[in-house]
Amino acid sequence: MANWENNEEIEIFREYLRIPSVHPNIDYEPCVEFLKKQAKSLDLPVSVYYPVNDKNPVVVLTWKGTQPNLQSIILNSHMDVVPVFEEHWTHPPFAADIDKDGKIFARGAQDMKCVGVQYLAAIRSLKRDGVQQLKRTIHVVFVPDEEVGGYLGMAKFIDTDEFKALNVGFSLDEGIASPNEVFNVYYAERTIWQIEFKCHGQSGHGSMLFRGTPGEKIHYIVDKFMNFRKKEAEKLENNPELTLGDVTTVNMTILKGGAQGNVVPPELNVTFDIRIANDIKLNDFEKMINQWCEEAGGNIELNYSHKFPQAPITPTDSSNIYWTAFKSAVEELNLKIKCVVFPGGTDSRYIRMENIPALGFSPMNNVPILLHDNDEYIPADTYLTGIQIYKKIIPNLANA
Ligand code: ZN
Repeated sequence: MANWENNEEIEIFREYLRIPSVHPNIDYEPCVEFLKKQAKSLDLPVSVYYPVNDKNPVVVLTWKGTQPNLQSIILNSHMDVVPVFEEHWTHPPFAADIDKDGKIFARGAQDMKCVGVQYLAAIRSLKRDGVQQLKRTIHVVFVPDEEVGGYLGMAKFIDTDEFKALNVGFSLDEGIASPNEVFNVYYAERTIWQIEFKCHGQSGHGSMLFRGTPGEKIHYIVDKFMNFRKKEAEKLENNPELTLGDVTTVNMTILKGGAQGNVVPPELNVTFDIRIANDIKLNDFEKMINQWCEEAGGNIELNYSHKFPQAPITPTDSSNIYWTAFKSAVEELNLKIKCVVFPGGTDSRYIRMENIPALGFSPMNNVPILLHDNDEYIPADTYLTGIQIYKKIIPNLANA
């Protein structure tokens, strides 16, 4: 019999996976009930906060430390998962089936219900080993809404008195599965800007050669961004040391305008999703964009649907005691790690903006990257090994 059959932790994990906390219009109450039950079985106090409205709970299980005045550690995860295209799945996405090889199939198996309950499993195991308390207080935090930006979750929670009362010194949150042996540790993210360029200009009959048409302006802007994009792609291709998070990505995501084939419209719009690398000064970047608009002929309106400030980077050196604690845990376990910039956005950016160091880490190696994909799964052995990894990392962080 494989070690995952009839395993208590696997069964708890599957129970969590079976809750369809899937966008849109999520009912989080079953997650709250599940987590309250976990808190009870772990003998940990649990608080439920509603920083935005009564549909978006933040659940916090607390393991009080022997020195509760020290800054605490949060172990963060999000309860929400992204939608599924069920016809492309070989197993129902909310059944948490295990196949003969021990693969557990479910939306959220990698992103990131695994991590949330692995934290709890590690605490359960520590307690069973007789560890009744660590030095710093640990808060295991479960937030809503991460997959659509965290605006109803972490983004608001950090502004509350309840969050401030947690006195957080460090946060651990999600990473991504690694297809090889090396675990990625994420210490920063790029800065997200999404900009719509509304190009206003001369309109009229489609047979004319007017100057200053919206078409000429949008062409200029698109050209500039595409040249910029090409250079960044070359930078990435030509340097094997770089990962996606080290360069700026630009993608045209929305193109709008026009009414009829023979009418030059008064306005054409283009939207770009831009993830700005951390070595770029945002002021300079904005100046460059404004200059392009002038060069294009002016009268271009900019609407920023996202314009985040640059979040501080979490130091990965001896100046950060939590980094030292994390690193010594992974060294003791002989894990190979690589420090990288997260290519997308996670709730860690809100934490870092509060000047709290945060690392993203999901203990899954030699596993295909399946977040947001069809047939998302995690091997049961990988899940159980992850618990052992957290069992080393969590005490190290809490005793730092
Ligand atoms: Zn996630």
